[in-house]
Amino acid sequence: MKPKHLEKIYHPTDAECLEGNLICECGCKTFGIRFFGEVIGEQIGIEKYQEKYAQTVKAKCSRCGNEYLLYDFARHGYDGLICEEGIVVPDELLKPLVIGEDDLFEIQMQIEVDDEEQFLEEVVNYPPLNNRFSLDDRMSIWSWVVINLTGAKSGKKYNGWVDEELA
Ligand SMILES: [Zn+2]
Repeated sequence: MKPKHLEKIYHPTDAECLEGNLICECGCKTFGIRFFGEVIGEQIGIEKYQEKYAQTVKAKCSRCGNEYLLYDFARHGYDGLICEEGIVVPDELLKPLVIGEDDLFEIQMQIEVDDEEQFLEEVVNYPPLNNRFSLDDRMSIWSWVVINLTGAKSGKKYNGWVDEELA
């Protein structure tokens, strides 16, 4: 099973769907990226926003222009969502990513999630969460996320552009 919000564009490269390449519905593999987060060299970290924490990545297809939300700390991070430490920032605060000569990128993602038993116990059947989540949400609530980029112009790899423990 794939993460729900990436259903159409995430192409897993392992049996458990924990690693995958992103390909737009139109077949294109290069994306412009907009993000929110603290820039640290060639990486981004989680940034404080209104007494909570935020980190967001959106990717826009370079051919058809479709834009996809890849990751939001407040929506897909275990601590951000379940422990309510995250906040969704207004879209206008996202900045376009440019690294050197690169403004278009191929994107690979790696995620870590709870196993089924753990997820049932800690999320689905945890009384304070009031049945807000089902087992279908397991692949979309992450304990770790890595986003690796390859510059379309330079061919340079930006591994661990996002590399964040989320639980
Ligand atoms: Zn496209």
